[in-house]
Order: sequence, then structure tokens, then C-alpha cells
Amino acid sequence: MSEWILDTASAEETRRLGRCLGQVIKDPVVLLLSGDLGAGKTCLTQGIARGLDIPESEPIVSPTYTLMNLYEGRLPLYHFDLYRLADPSELEDLGLEEYLPGDGVAVVEWADRFDDLCPTYLAIRIQHRGPDMRAIRFCAVGPTGETLLEALQSVWQSQG
Ligand code: ADP
Ligand code: MG
Repeated sequence: MSEWILDTASAEETRRLGRCLGQVIKDPVVLLLSGDLGAGKTCLTQGIARGLDIPESEPIVSPTYTLMNLYEGRLPLYHFDLYRLADPSELEDLGLEEYLPGDGVAVVEWADRFDDLCPTYLAIRIQHRGPDMRAIRFCAVGPTGETLLEALQSVWQSQG
């Protein structure tokens, strides 16, 4: 398991971080997002979508009511929000398992509301540090997540 923690000072910076992450994704992967309401999970996902070449003309909105939104990019982006789910049987109804991983990028907001969603993933926890400051903690579990996290770190650091 590897870990990386960094701060972002604006929503724009979080989107830029997300775009770097999207850019380094070449294979199906599971991204498990957690953090309070308004932490920036959807904001980060907007960046990830841009890095996956989903056009700016496609607004990335929280799938709070629809539970899942699909966007077509270099890889399909499956954007889930589990906020409104009450118990694990609803995960089955949603068919979540077949996306973890499936043929694309599964981004799951409020993933921490359920245990053991899948064995290999990149977990991303966002915490408020101030009005515009957020601490973002990446935690890679399994080889896919580890490789991705290393690639993200090097792209982010090369951007300065
Ligand atoms: P969540 O999906 O976690 O509920 P959103 O991404 O929908 O959160 O909302 C995050 C809110 O916080 C947005 O209004 C955004 O503009 C604001 N914000 C301020 N600073 C940051 C930051 N550093 N990173 C992400 N969002 C930020
Ligand atoms: Mg959200």
C-alpha cells in the first residue's frame, strides 16, 4: 500500500490534479472517493473526465439522484455516488460489482459508506482545511493503483 498526501488551494487546482490523474489512466481502474459534502469529490471527477478526453461541452454533475452517470472518453467513465444508498443490497441492484473494475474507469463517491467494495483500487480522501484549502490523500491498494499513483506523482511534479 502506498500513500501520497497533498494540499490544493482552489477548486481549479483540484480539477488540475484530477486532469493529471485522468491523463495517466490507460487501463480500467477503480477510484474510491470519500470526504464530506462539498469536499471536492465531484470537482476532482470533473478533472479526471478532462484527462480522459471527455469534452468540455459535457458537464460532469454529481449523480446523486441517478446513482450513476456514464461518459464516453478514451475509456468509459462510470461516475457513481453512493450517498443515497442505505444498505448493501442496493449495491447489488445497482450492479456496481461489474464495474469494479469493468471496461472503464469507475469513480465512486461516498465509497467509504460500504466496506470491501473491491480488492484493488486507488482510494482518494478529501478533507476540508479551510474555505478553499483541501488535503487530498491518495492510498493505492493493489498493483493497478500503485502504478497509477506513481504515474500521477511524476506528472504532477513535472508540472511544478
Ligand atoms: P463533493 O462532491 O465532495 O460533495 P463538490 O466537488 O461538489 O464536493 O464541491 C466542492 C465545492 O468546494 C465546490 O463548490 C468548489 O468550488 C469548492 N472548493 C473550494 N476549494 C476547493 C478545493 N481546493 N478543491 C475542491 N473544491 C473546492
Ligand atoms: Mg459530489
